Amino acid sequence: MSEISFLAQVNRMFEKAAVHTKHPKGLLDQIRICNSTYAMQFPLKRDDGSIEVIRAWRAEHSQHKTPTKGGIRYAPNVNEDEVTALASLMTYKCAIVDVPFGGAKGGICIDRRKYSEAELERITRRYTFELVKKNFIGPGIDVPAPDYGTGAKEMSWILDTYNSLTSDSLDALACVTGKPVGQGGVRGRKEATGRGVFFGLREACSHAEDMAQLGLSPGLTGKTVIVQGLGNVGYHAAKFIQEGGAIIVGLAEYEGAIYNANGLDLEKVVKHRKETGSILNFPGAENITHSQAALELPCDILVPAALEAVIVGENATRIQAKIIAEGANGPVTAHADTILNERGIMIIPDVFLNAGGVTVSYFEWLRNLQHVRFGRMSKRFEQNMQTRMLDAIQTIMGKKLDPQFMEEVIHGASEEDLVNSGLEDTMINAYNEIRMIAQQHKTDLRTASFINAIDKVAVSYLEMGIFP
Ligand code: GLU
Repeated sequence: MSEISFLAQVNRMFEKAAVHTKHPKGLLDQIRICNSTYAMQFPLKRDDGSIEVIRAWRAEHSQHKTPTKGGIRYAPNVNEDEVTALASLMTYKCAIVDVPFGGAKGGICIDRRKYSEAELERITRRYTFELVKKNFIGPGIDVPAPDYGTGAKEMSWILDTYNSLTSDSLDALACVTGKPVGQGGVRGRKEATGRGVFFGLREACSHAEDMAQLGLSPGLTGKTVIVQGLGNVGYHAAKFIQEGGAIIVGLAEYEGAIYNANGLDLEKVVKHRKETGSILNFPGAENITHSQAALELPCDILVPAALEAVIVGENATRIQAKIIAEGANGPVTAHADTILNERGIMIIPDVFLNAGGVTVSYFEWLRNLQHVRFGRMSKRFEQNMQTRMLDAIQTIMGKKLDPQFMEEVIHGASEEDLVNSGLEDTMINAYNEIRMIAQQHKTDLRTASFINAIDKVAVSYLEMGIFP
């Protein structure tokens, strides 16, 4: 079977799940299709004075909830099919983690390494201008965020451009998420997707009977892990997974990969890469010059956290991992998905596992609309109550408690504590929901996730009275 387009893959996964539901065809069609896509072309004046035409898109997949939400990626191969597929995934992702947004995604077809910072700023500002002009951005309309090739800096340019073009600026901060903390961003957003991958994976590994089926013991401790991609998602996922007790045995980047069955120290690898410009030749590790080959090395858990379609029909038969944890969007093609399921490999799907980013984006958006930092009103009150409680305990016991323990218990929740706690709860609940659906329908976790998403989006449409 040859590989089909990204959008066709997502839709195939949708169809596979749709047969488990009882919704009428028209409603399923409406849930699946992309509502609107804005394709644009605009000129960029390069630093040397030459003119180049830039191609870009923003796809709004579903307005069953508004605003629509999703990142903007800067990548050389991005195209309309990819942006639409990613926008569809955003709709399902938001539904699975109960984030009340529709799905969207943007893309600009550039290799960002080939442009100066000033050029990137001009591109980002012009793109935002186009979005404003066509009503494709706004706190209640469509809210972009970082994705592959973008980060807080691009988001602050988007905010500034939006602000300068709109007259009512009260809620303008909420027009984009993933902003720098000093400009309305929320603490913990940068780490959120990787942290969510860790929470989701830890929850999956906590079910002893599921692990037994894979021949594994429960818990993350001691499990061997290979991570592909050391970008924002891959790096943070690897960091939290390592801190959670697993052993990172392999790391892959575009210039090559490294493997050490006894474990790699993530921070030392990052430092080595910064110093030498490459992940290769890390002391004590084996070099794998063809980076993709690292996906096929022995490990318990494989975390593809780079781009889509890295596990395809051709290499799916050679994957040795027992669990694939999808940090990236669409890393496993529909063909590979079938092969891996037949082989009994557990896939924790992207639409659930990497939803931590958009979950914390939701918290950022709420914070912007509330115009107050989380915990500002309650922190001191909590601290006072805890202190009184501990004082009472000390009086009853007639002895002093350990001062370090006291300090840990007394401190009221900071904004980051609250964000992380909201994220942890979201990932744990969402996992157990899809796990239960998978058991009920005797199917895999991806199909269960899509069933869950379809049902939730269907409820929204039905509540709107569109399909009486
Ligand atoms: N780009 C991220 C994703 O694919 C985050 C989107 C957002 O925060 O809106 O989920």
